[in-house]
Amino acid sequence: MDIIEKATEILDQGFVVGMPTETVYGLAARIDRPAGIESIFKVKERPFFDPLIVHVASLDQARALTTDWSSGAQALAQAFWPGPLTLVLPKSSFVNSMITSGLETVGIRMPNHPLALELIRAVGVPLAAPSANKFGRTSPTRADHVQEEFKNENVLVIDGGPCQVGLESTVLSLHFSQSERKYQLAILREGAISRAQIEKIMLEQNLPFQFQENPSKRESPGQMKHHYMPKIPLIIIQPDRDLSKVKEELKQKISELPDQIEGVTLIRPTQLDVFYELTLPRDPVLAARELYQRLREGGQSQADVIYFRLMPEVHTPEWAALRDRLFKAASLVLG
Ligand code: AMP
Ligand code: MG
Repeated sequence: MDIIEKATEILDQGFVVGMPTETVYGLAARIDRPAGIESIFKVKERPFFDPLIVHVASLDQARALTTDWSSGAQALAQAFWPGPLTLVLPKSSFVNSMITSGLETVGIRMPNHPLALELIRAVGVPLAAPSANKFGRTSPTRADHVQEEFKNENVLVIDGGPCQVGLESTVLSLHFSQSERKYQLAILREGAISRAQIEKIMLEQNLPFQFQENPSKRESPGQMKHHYMPKIPLIIIQPDRDLSKVKEELKQKISELPDQIEGVTLIRPTQLDVFYELTLPRDPVLAARELYQRLREGGQSQADVIYFRLMPEVHTPEWAALRDRLFKAASLVLG
C-alpha cells in the first residue's frame, strides 16, 4: 500500500495525518469526521478558539464550503491558487463549527504541493489542517520536524521534502458590502502573497474594494502576541549592539518576564552563557524558507539563548511576513 492510500485510510477512520504543503506542514483531518477534528486540537494542545484552515483540491470543493463565492473570491482564487492565500468567507453548513471556532466564516485554501493535492483528491473531501506543531511553537517545514514534534503521538507523516515557501499563508477576509457597493478586504495574517499583489488583481478585474486597516480581534482570532517560539528563547537585538552589554541587560529583563502570555509558556533560560546567532539570507524568499529550520537548529543547540540582529532589510515591505513571525517568536526585543 502506498503512503497516500495508508493516509487515506487513517483519515477515513477519523485520525490525523501529517501533510506537506508549500507553506508549512499541516496536521490534517477530514472535515466530515468530528473525531478527527477534535484530535487535531488534542494532539496540538491547541485552544478551541483558534480556527483551522480548510484545504481543497478544486474550486468546486471551495464553493461548497461557503455561502458567498463572489466574483472577488473567484478572481483571487484563480490568480493565487494553488498557493499561499487563505480566503476567509461565510461558511456553509458543510463546515462544522469546531473547525471555525464557532465563527460564521471559514478559511479556505488550495495548497500548492503535489502530495497535498493528491491526498485531498484521494480522500474526496476537504481536509482541515493547522500547522503541525504544538500550540505556540515553531512551525514545521520538513517531515522530520513533524516526527520530532509528535514523537509521542504516533502520527503518520507524508514526506514531501522541505517546504518551498516556509511561512504560513496570507489570510485575507473578503466580503462584498451591499451598502457601499465594494469589497471589504482585511489581511488577518501576513504571508507570501502581499497586499500589493491582491490589489493588482482586484484592479485588473475591475472589482471595487477597500482595505480595512485594523481588523478586530474577533475577526482574526489566533493572532497571539507570542507564537512560533523555539525551544530556547529568541532575543531580537539592534544590529550595532555589543553582545557582552546585551548579556547584562538580558539578565535583568529575563527575570521580569511573565511565565505565560496568552496561554503560551515563555521559556526562561537558567543561565546566560552560550549565545546562538540566528542568521538569515537577505533575500526574503530564501529567508522565509530557512527561518523555521534555523529556529529549530538553535533550539536544539547547546546554547542558552538565540539572538537575531535586526538587519535593515527586516523593515522593508518584502519582509512583512518574516517580521511578523520573528517578533512573535521572540521572548524579548532589546532596543
Ligand atoms: P494555522 O495556525 O496556520 O493553522 O492558521 C490558522 C489561522 O488562520 C488562525 O490562527 C487564524 O488566524 C486564521 N483563520 C482561520 N480561519 C479563520 C476564520 N474563519 N476567520 C479568521 N481567521 C481565520
Ligand atoms: Mg500555526
